[in-house]
Amino acid sequence: MKKSTLCVQGGWEPKNGEPRVLPIIQSTTFKYDNSEEMAMLFDLKKEGYFYSRLQNPTNDAVARKIAALEGGVGAVLTSSGQAANFYAIFNLCEAGDHIVASSEIYGGTFNLFGVTLKKLGISCTFVAPDADEEELQAAFQPNTKALFGETISNPSCAVLDIEKFARLAHRNGVPLIVDNTFATPINCNPFRWGCDIVTHSTTKYMDGHAAAVGGVVVDSGNFNWEAHAERYPGLCTPDASYHGIAYTQTFGKMAYITKMVAQLMRDLGSIPAPQNSFLLNLGLETLHLRMPQHCRNAQAVAEFLQAHPRVAWVRYSGLKEDVNYEKAQKYLPNGSCGVLSFGLKGNRETAIKWMDALKLIAIVTHVADARTCVLHPASHTHRQLSDEQLREAGVAPDLIRLSVGIEDPEDILADIRQALDTLETPLAGRNLTCK
Ligand SMILES: *Cc1c(COP(=O)(O)O)cnc(C)c1O
Repeated sequence: MKKSTLCVQGGWEPKNGEPRVLPIIQSTTFKYDNSEEMAMLFDLKKEGYFYSRLQNPTNDAVARKIAALEGGVGAVLTSSGQAANFYAIFNLCEAGDHIVASSEIYGGTFNLFGVTLKKLGISCTFVAPDADEEELQAAFQPNTKALFGETISNPSCAVLDIEKFARLAHRNGVPLIVDNTFATPINCNPFRWGCDIVTHSTTKYMDGHAAAVGGVVVDSGNFNWEAHAERYPGLCTPDASYHGIAYTQTFGKMAYITKMVAQLMRDLGSIPAPQNSFLLNLGLETLHLRMPQHCRNAQAVAEFLQAHPRVAWVRYSGLKEDVNYEKAQKYLPNGSCGVLSFGLKGNRETAIKWMDALKLIAIVTHVADARTCVLHPASHTHRQLSDEQLREAGVAPDLIRLSVGIEDPEDILADIRQALDTLETPLAGRNLTCK
């Protein structure tokens, strides 16, 4: 089926007399007639539901829809995007292991990898995503277990060269994990370009209405764990905590996803509420309609800003002058997303003054939903980072992150314009630096 059909109908196929709309199975537990059957479920010898921390029919239906949209073999929903990225890594790593990650990633993920994973004994080397292959290669160590990047980085809007990253990962015998939150499966399927595992914060476009925090991990099923069995003992050798099952031998292409449910969900339990998965599913039903509108509106706003004398620089991969334009043509031919970043001429105060003058556009700690919103990362999401870390994460102190919604573009532009008009006399000249 095509993506539009999967968005509307994927994941839930009601049988005769069953509800047409995905039901919310708000039940912690499931009933069995005899104890033997329950025992088989615990041994992973039979498929079925017994406790919602492990599996729940509402959650599973939505996971199936997203797996189908990404072209993966299976997916796990998590309670947040943060949990998804943590699980994606922790399913492969333990104390003493190492990962390599693009430095241009979401602030929360940067902190998770650089600070919190370190406390668990997992170290991370950050690399500039546009570094050449030699530089990237130098970041790998014998104990490296994964390479990580974002299709479109939040908030710097850099487009990842997925093929280059996949090549590097595979040369070193590790999978490439890509956070595909901003592009969504509508605008990019990283598996097509050699990526092995995809994550999302479903909180953003997938939900699309800022109603429920959530995440998902999708496996392509393509990475050959057995070929690197000594590197991935958790997948390839018997798991003492699960009756001596070796996931790759028992579950084949579903090894990574099954291990995530059987070990990580069992022990850490970051499941979404079935109610939230229901809301996520409603959002997914219109994802294919919303994304093109986000892209059209963002393109109009980017072009307006680029031509405005008060604007110092604009970064949006749909602009021909943008450093990411070529990569976007390749990986995001139908458009990237509604998020763009730009800087105003002046100082930090200029950005704050402009934001405070907005009327339709709201200042919120969110991006990528139906309503246009704005954020100043240096004073909000990234305020825990030093100036040097800010630069490393591709976040200039004057960077304003604008998340263009699906309202009428004329109303969005009118608000941006009236707020710009409140600033002092426009400065002469124009200085476009898309770096
Ligand atoms: C928001 C975001 C996250 C974190 O997701 P939450 O759902 O807020 O936990 C991770 N990655 C990217 C790219 C994001 O935009």
